[in-house]
Amino acid sequence: MPALLPSTRPRLTVPTLPSLLLGLACAAAVPAQAQTSASATTSASASSASAALSDRAWTDCLQRLQPVAQHNGVRPDTWSRLLAGVQPDPSVLDKLDNQPEFKTPIWDYMAALVDDERVADGRQRLTEHADTLQRVEQTYGVPAATVVAVWGVESNFGQGFGRYPLVQALGTLSCAGRRQAFFQKELFATLRIAQAGDVAPEALVGSWAGAFGHTQFMPTTYERLAVDFDGDGHRDLTASVPDALASTAHFLKQAGWTPGLAWGVEVVWPQANAANLQGEGRKTKRSAATWAERGLRTADGRALSAVFPPDTPLGLMAPKGPQGEVGPLFLVSRNFDAIYSYNAAESYGLAIAHLADRMRGGAAFQTPWPTDDLGLSRAQRRELQALLQLKGHDIGTIDGMLGDKSRAAIRAEQTRLGHAVTGRAGQRLLQALNAR
Ligand code: CA
Repeated sequence: MPALLPSTRPRLTVPTLPSLLLGLACAAAVPAQAQTSASATTSASASSASAALSDRAWTDCLQRLQPVAQHNGVRPDTWSRLLAGVQPDPSVLDKLDNQPEFKTPIWDYMAALVDDERVADGRQRLTEHADTLQRVEQTYGVPAATVVAVWGVESNFGQGFGRYPLVQALGTLSCAGRRQAFFQKELFATLRIAQAGDVAPEALVGSWAGAFGHTQFMPTTYERLAVDFDGDGHRDLTASVPDALASTAHFLKQAGWTPGLAWGVEVVWPQANAANLQGEGRKTKRSAATWAERGLRTADGRALSAVFPPDTPLGLMAPKGPQGEVGPLFLVSRNFDAIYSYNAAESYGLAIAHLADRMRGGAAFQTPWPTDDLGLSRAQRRELQALLQLKGHDIGTIDGMLGDKSRAAIRAEQTRLGHAVTGRAGQRLLQALNAR
């Protein structure tokens, strides 16, 4: 899904970004942690997404899995209590195989995730949870704004956890589809979390792939890294904001976060061209001193040495336009890699990093994105939906999420206006609809 770099495509081969919030064309939010532990397994019974799981196959599968679950620490009474009466949900199998209809350009992604609304909401959370965040930073070394940015992108600060009952969704994915072994581990972890009394069974609701809670941890990641930070004896990332924020910081610390190191900085490089950008990237680290010698400086005119000690390893990220045009450039440190490990997409990392900077009063990027049709904020998406509705389209609820109905309406309007029919909504379409 990220337009930035196809090579970042997660191993689960489904889109990973928090479309929960974005309503982007790609409908999946397999986070983060899912990819790091995922092993590519193709079940012999792998089927097309739409293949229904018969009652018989479901019952047989559960019977087969129960002793395996028991072997993995799930008591029989837990199994029967949480799986009693659960029916499979074939819609999650469609999600598993859903391919995005188009790649979301990074400027669309950033426009919706780092908009004025989320910056303001984030600042409010920084104030509201200042004491907790200070303790979190002291304990894990991760800045408050970074933790809050993850919270804001993953669940819009706790306003959307996903709508799939985890036991049902993970049970289905454990019994059909192409990643059964992977999802069985997540199912067992979910059951153990409930069994431990950390999370109320009715709170086990999340993304179709099993990420849940304020910061959308996968169940196995939860077991590995969640912490009880409010001291009530439970690690509850659904009901406890302190637990969720501290667990997120714990994750980033374990992923290599270095206290006091900037994630990166927007840079300008007058000599940049296709040839000298070739081969550069997040993973190709060179020292800050080397980059400075090559003529890079920060976009706000400072020397690189004002941000990074000379020996700091930094990679150069250069998101490209559709014809390979160069837009803003970023030098990123290992702390960017730590964010990347939360959700393996560079556009995701950039959204978290930039949102954190904006919350701290940082400026928007100085170099424009290489496009003549910038993306829409959530407020503008809602405005667009209202305009589509005025034109008689059924777009469902005006919520700023561009789902299937909105996309169909966008296509219809693009056809009518003589625009390229892409289903993508940018400033050009919004202006055209406002003009008539
Ligand atoms: Ca707790």
